[in-house]
Amino acid sequence: MINIIDKANCCGCHACSNRCPQKCISMQADDEGFWYPKVDSKDCINCGLCEKVCPILNKSIVENQPTAYACQIEDDQIRQQSSSGGVFTIVAASVLANHGVVFGAGFDREFNVLHSSVDSIDDLSNFRGSKYVQSCIGNTYEQAKNFLNQGRQVLFSGTPCQIAGFKSYLGKEYEGVVCVDIICHGVPSPLVWEQYRNNLKNNNELMSISFRDKAFGWKRFSLKITYKNDEEYIKDLKSDAFMQGFLKNVYLRPSCYNCSFKTLARQSDITLADFWGIENILPSFDDDKGTSLILVNSNKGKEIFLAAAKQMKYEKIDIDHAIRYNSAAIKSVDYNPKRDKFFRELPESTDISQLIGKYTKVSFSRKVYMKVRLLLSQIKRKILYLWDGTEKKGTNMNNS
Ligand SMILES: Cc1cc2nc3c(=O)[nH]c(=O)nc-3n(C[C@H](O)[C@H](O)[C@H](O)COP(=O)(O)OP(=O)(O)OC[C@H]3O[C@@H](n4cnc5c(N)ncnc54)[C@H](O)[C@@H]3O)c2cc1C
Ligand code: SF4
Ligand code: SF4
Ligand code: SF4
Repeated sequence: MINIIDKANCCGCHACSNRCPQKCISMQADDEGFWYPKVDSKDCINCGLCEKVCPILNKSIVENQPTAYACQIEDDQIRQQSSSGGVFTIVAASVLANHGVVFGAGFDREFNVLHSSVDSIDDLSNFRGSKYVQSCIGNTYEQAKNFLNQGRQVLFSGTPCQIAGFKSYLGKEYEGVVCVDIICHGVPSPLVWEQYRNNLKNNNELMSISFRDKAFGWKRFSLKITYKNDEEYIKDLKSDAFMQGFLKNVYLRPSCYNCSFKTLARQSDITLADFWGIENILPSFDDDKGTSLILVNSNKGKEIFLAAAKQMKYEKIDIDHAIRYNSAAIKSVDYNPKRDKFFRELPESTDISQLIGKYTKVSFSRKVYMKVRLLLSQIKRKILYLWDGTEKKGTNMNNS
């Protein structure tokens, strides 16, 4: 039976709890707010299925050669509501139009983040937009399999580890399943997110939350909170405490610092991401309203992408250029050495934003050092890009 000794070896995908025939695995939050499996040994029959299905214990080797595209959907309103170029919505809409079912990460009434399904276009908006919190899978793998067995098409979207867990849970290829993942920086703690919300003024009067509001532009995205009385809180990624703690890796899940799913050979059919560096790679797309980087990973993905492409502006990009500014595609983030201390202080904290501020504050000398380092790396990238671009000029950015 599954037994987690090192927490870094469990991504919380819920494949084991969905698979257990005895239903004797519950996913329980630890002191940091991340879910881990707990087996009720009195009901366990030692069948070993929980271990067999775990995507960390059994790594799948995928051999594919993804094709990368820069994309912006034509519907400006949906693009504005989406995190990057809005491609998720049109891919999902094509499955719904086919009488299919879409699974994704949305908010519940208290603004916890969890997976669920929709089968109508009107309900899709809850999945739109990134939620920078680990989403609870619950028993959605089981629900998705039931739909597949009824002959319905299913689009399952989530982080790469959730897609790996889902595919491992399914255990065989289904014609009707489409898997969509993201380039994933890592997922913050649901407990920190809950405390952040509890700390908001009028937290019981929240109306909507967007982690990727584009009022200050796509590149300087903001956390926007709207209240029922029309009041608003809006701060960009540099000024909001929760976003700072996320981007500085203070409270990500332990598995995210050594992620088993960072690769270009992905298990999904389509990968969604932000096209960071678009101003250097394809300046004609740089309108600061959001551009998606899309990786098409399989023949099924290609079919769906090309059908959806009728509703977007897109260009094929050399894959090495496409991920040049998006190291999260292939590399785990650095462990923040202050993380342990942050979580030790969390239970005593009465003001979470203040606590995060304490662990994200940067000294003046560090700021200068980081600015110089950033400048040097930007110059290096530019030189490398110009050098590479000159060599391959005219061959790597064609429509297809
Ligand atoms: C935690 C997290 C980290 C990310 N890190 C990066 C990164 O480092 N680099 C990068 O380029 N892009 C990253 N992304 C992806 C990016 O933010 C956009 O989600 C992606 O570009 C899709 O945008 P869109 O405009 O097509 O659609 P949108 O409508 O914005 O995307 C919605 C899709 O995101 C999924 N989703 C939203 N929140 C979650 C969640 N908490 N867990 C699982 N799935 C979720 C939904 O199910 C849906 O499939 C990350 C997303 C998340 C959620
Ligand atoms: S060994 Fe079988 S019964 Fe026991 S917890 Fe694992 S899946 Fe469930
Ligand atoms: S199946 Fe997923 S949740 Fe279960 S132990 Fe493995 S990684 Fe953790
Ligand atoms: S970084 Fe890796 S382990 Fe963490 S949520 Fe993303 S895919 Fe899962």
